[in-house]
Amino acid sequence: MNETPNQPPVAQRELPLIALKDTVMFPGALLSVNVTRPKSKAALDAASSHDGLAVFVCQKSPKVEDPASEDLYTVGTIGKIRRFWRVDGDYNLTIEGMTRVHIDEFTQLDPSFVARVADVAGSFERTEEVEALIRNINNQLKRFGEVGGALSLEASISIFSADDPNRLVDAIASGIDFKAPEKQEILQIPDVKDRLEKISELLAREIRVLEIGQQIASQTQQKISKVAKESILKEQLHSIEKELGMDDEGHEIAEFRRKIKAAAMPDDIKEKSLRELSRLAKMSTYNPESSYVRTYLEWLTDLPWGVKSPNNVDVVNARATLERDHYGLEKIKERILEYLAVHKLSGKIRGPILCFFGPPGVGKTSIGKSIADALGRKFVRVSLGGIRDEAEIRGHRRTYVGALPGRIIQGIKTAGTSNPIFMLDEIDKIGIDFRGDPSSALLEALDPEQNNSFSDHYLEVAYDLSDVMFITTANVLGTIPPALRDRLEIIEFPGYTMEEKFQIAKSFLVPKQREQHGMTKEQVDITDKAMMKVIADYTREAGVRNSEREIAALVRKAAKEIVEAKKTSVNVTPDVVRKYLGPEKFTPYLAEKEHLLGASTGLAWTEAGGEILTVEATPMPGRGQLILTGQLGDVMKESAQAAMSYVRSHAENFGLPDRFYAKIDLHIHVPAGAIPKDGPSAGTAMVCAIVSALTKAPVYKDVGMTGEVTLRGRVLEIGGVKEKILAAHRAGLKTVILPKDNKKDMEEVPKNVRDTMKFVYVDRMDGVLKIALVHQPRRRQVTKSSLQPAFPQQAQA
Ligand code: ADP
Repeated sequence: MNETPNQPPVAQRELPLIALKDTVMFPGALLSVNVTRPKSKAALDAASSHDGLAVFVCQKSPKVEDPASEDLYTVGTIGKIRRFWRVDGDYNLTIEGMTRVHIDEFTQLDPSFVARVADVAGSFERTEEVEALIRNINNQLKRFGEVGGALSLEASISIFSADDPNRLVDAIASGIDFKAPEKQEILQIPDVKDRLEKISELLAREIRVLEIGQQIASQTQQKISKVAKESILKEQLHSIEKELGMDDEGHEIAEFRRKIKAAAMPDDIKEKSLRELSRLAKMSTYNPESSYVRTYLEWLTDLPWGVKSPNNVDVVNARATLERDHYGLEKIKERILEYLAVHKLSGKIRGPILCFFGPPGVGKTSIGKSIADALGRKFVRVSLGGIRDEAEIRGHRRTYVGALPGRIIQGIKTAGTSNPIFMLDEIDKIGIDFRGDPSSALLEALDPEQNNSFSDHYLEVAYDLSDVMFITTANVLGTIPPALRDRLEIIEFPGYTMEEKFQIAKSFLVPKQREQHGMTKEQVDITDKAMMKVIADYTREAGVRNSEREIAALVRKAAKEIVEAKKTSVNVTPDVVRKYLGPEKFTPYLAEKEHLLGASTGLAWTEAGGEILTVEATPMPGRGQLILTGQLGDVMKESAQAAMSYVRSHAENFGLPDRFYAKIDLHIHVPAGAIPKDGPSAGTAMVCAIVSALTKAPVYKDVGMTGEVTLRGRVLEIGGVKEKILAAHRAGLKTVILPKDNKKDMEEVPKNVRDTMKFVYVDRMDGVLKIALVHQPRRRQVTKSSLQPAFPQQAQA
């Protein structure tokens, strides 16, 4: 079946032709055209004599202003001018598309195009395929409308009223905004089925583009609406909070209130906190006082009110823990266990406060921690060194800018419980001055009778310290304020012998360091000889602190070597020690010299434990002056003067001429010059050095001595015997000369030390010289004149 609607009259087959820019005219469509080009106007004029008909053809490129015949497509549409009016010399037309035509030939190019055209009949068969295509296109059109495709009312009417596929295709092609070349392509396709396919393809593309556009739009919309939703919700929340008094500030107040309620504070303190809180609630955030009140409330609420570690004093377990962590220290462990037993029976901490007394590094802190471990309590440690101000203990009053609680309350907060083991370090280093006496505040904190309501100036409310177990530590006893000292039970930690240090290092320090560095025994093993070398050549101390440091260095260096040299293990021998730790830091005391001339070995006691002290004396031409150097304290200076006086008055005994001193100056020096020394106990050593210097009688290098000397040569008792003997033992001395009255102190000296050394007890200076000097000075024959006038009779007493 062949069918071409709107058959144009055959007579009009030669028609004027108008070129259209970017527009394709389809049969059946109404088109509005603005005619401005002279050639088009001329064609229009000519059309009037053709019954208002003209051929409308799209030009290939819209940019060409005055197209030639080859610039035009060869298929166009005959249109009938329906309306026509003139605007400012241009024409405005409405044309109705009539018939698709092929331009066979241009018969005129000027002043207007005239062309001979032939109809292009759109042939089609209504096959099932065509039907299916039409149905599909109808669906597509629906979808096109759904996804927002634009279709003018006019186009929709002509599409839905199209009664045959030809019309349908033309209506769609002209009504939808395809591109001009695409429309032209449709116009040119002769077969209807092919045209339907092409239209369907174009429609599908349009729908896809529209769908994507829609998707993007909805995503953007979603994003925008999420942001909008959040901000609306926030706004609502804010107003709800405001309504309930829970805005930012309100929130803080509520939080404080909750904390105060939750804390097991005594009632009066709770009340005070709530009063402060309502003060804070009324304050503006900009009021500087609000931050002070806030800090205060934070302190009050953060303190562990009634928070306690369970009170399980188990003496058997405590013993095991103390043994596990510490070598030796038997007496100390016993005393601590007694203390704990009493505590268990009485349920309260009663009696004196323990004071661990001894040089650094002997395990005072470590025992404290062990006690805490054994009892399952928290451990805190606060140093009192250098405190001169009462406020450091008891806090500053709140009126003071930047005020804080004192160290006791700070320690309690750190512990987080109200019954910790609380170690107050260096109680011997607190001072007293115009800022108040810290020791009295300390006494109040320590005293079990009154510390259940310890008042800190900052807190203003009492805190119960009665469950705290205080342990104090000190290096010296002399400087502890007497009132405080009275309350303390001194537990003495003596220094260690070489053997003990070796055992501690081997069984405790090395395993500890290995563990801390993540190494195993297989990876780093330190031989006994190497360990001994570390202790003897790299440390000189009463405790084991430096030993521990050197061991840590060894383990660290071994770890580095294992990693760097890709080794599996390091065996630390004495040679490796030297490689890792560098040259020896201390030469053994005895290796230094042969017998001493003009020098002697004294034994001293310092905060760091016992020490070996060399006393040097040297005479030189002069006028009887005594020069003393080596940072000697007053007592030691006096002791040097007394020693000199003793020698002068006994010149005869030493074979020295009368008034020998008048022509010499005697210089006494005690190295190391930079370390302050004091005390009377170097008296015997000074006499010995002076006598040796003046008589040229050498002193045994392995004999050490300690003792105060009177002008008449009596040797008096001294303190710190144990420490001094340990130091002598560490230094390898063979003999120690001690005052007779100190014999009683020997019990405290470890047996293995007592067994390896010789002790000589003397009560007179000549007894010292007899042992210490390699040969005795020859006594001078006393002439009558030599006795006078310098040496009174008593010198011989
Ligand atoms: P102090 O408090 O007396 O200055 P520390 O308690 O800090 O000394 O001890 C220093 C180190 O030596 C710690 O690692 C400690 O464990 C260790 N130590 C001290 N004495 C012993 C000991 N008898 N047994 C085991 N380790 C000890």
